[in-house]
Amino acid sequence: IMKILSGIQPSGQLHIGNYFGMMQTMIDQMESSDLHVFIVDYHALTSVRDPKVLAKGTLEAAADFLALGLDPDKCTFWVQSDVPAVCELMWLLSVLTPMGLVERCHSYKDKVAKGIQASHGLFSYPVLMAADILLYQADIVPVGKDQKQHLEFARDLAQKFNNEYGETFTIPEPGISKHTATIPGLDGQKMSKSYGNTIPIFSEGKPLKKRVMAIETDAKGIEEPKDPDSCNLYQLLKLFATPDRLAEIRGLYVNGGAAYGYLKLELLDLLNDKFGAARQKKAEYLADPAELRRILAKGAEKARAKAAVTIDLVRERVGIKY
Ligand code: ATP
Ligand code: MG
Repeated sequence: IMKILSGIQPSGQLHIGNYFGMMQTMIDQMESSDLHVFIVDYHALTSVRDPKVLAKGTLEAAADFLALGLDPDKCTFWVQSDVPAVCELMWLLSVLTPMGLVERCHSYKDKVAKGIQASHGLFSYPVLMAADILLYQADIVPVGKDQKQHLEFARDLAQKFNNEYGETFTIPEPGISKHTATIPGLDGQKMSKSYGNTIPIFSEGKPLKKRVMAIETDAKGIEEPKDPDSCNLYQLLKLFATPDRLAEIRGLYVNGGAAYGYLKLELLDLLNDKFGAARQKKAEYLADPAELRRILAKGAEKARAKAAVTIDLVRERVGIKY
């Protein structure tokens, strides 16, 4: 049975890029794998500096996952910082990490280019992420394409550690689905919490409509032929429309007749159909934060027990168990 692990940052409202890139895959594999899902609040500190916002975001992200169908009794579901051993492992990996390897990671440069503060934490993000994965000895890590390089980084570090100190870590495989590798945001760039270009999963009513209507398209008239594959509205419709309807929409793009305004309203309906039922559930979880905390505390206990086994071995391997 495969150990599948992936985390999500409470760095803003979870969006449909997160849903298709990672959350859905995780929830689908709950029955068939040894599933590990966690809210990575240490990572979110690289972009969130308001303690209230971070604490609230962490509970919200947990409520999102549960409302979408994650069953905490069928997986290990916890908050990253409840298992601080991950920071110890990060240090033990840091001393083995060649500078050049971190310098090559483009996520750091992308985020700094978007105005996120260039901190040492943001720079060493991939080392903490490697520690997240290796601490739990994950076999497969389902992620969006943006995380592919970070996964290779984790594999490299695991290999390096194993070569130097003897077999210790499982070498993790990335789980990237072709169709949902990169969901575009309103502006056509990667949808990201920290870029403000998202369609939040749990948005509704007017705010949701405003987001959907803000999807950028070209300025072609209704009857002009258009290229569906370079249109981010089409890329988003593709995630929700039935195959038959999608084929019709494609025809409208290619032959003329696609009205962006109407297609946006159609996308809005599809979003409401898909996520409407989960909204009520999310509200119920948020109305009972004590129960949410209880679920997370139970998950943390399970995670700590697993982490302790790895940390103990790693301490022995490197010579700090004397
Ligand atoms: P941030 O902007 O703070 O980095 P994010 O929106 O990129 O937030 P993360 O918490 O970094 O979200 O990523 C959680 C998971 O969602 C990762 O597996 C990531 O690959 C995936 N993911 C994020 N954005 C997308 C996207 N646009 N398309 C597909 N997968 C995505
Ligand atoms: Mg990200």
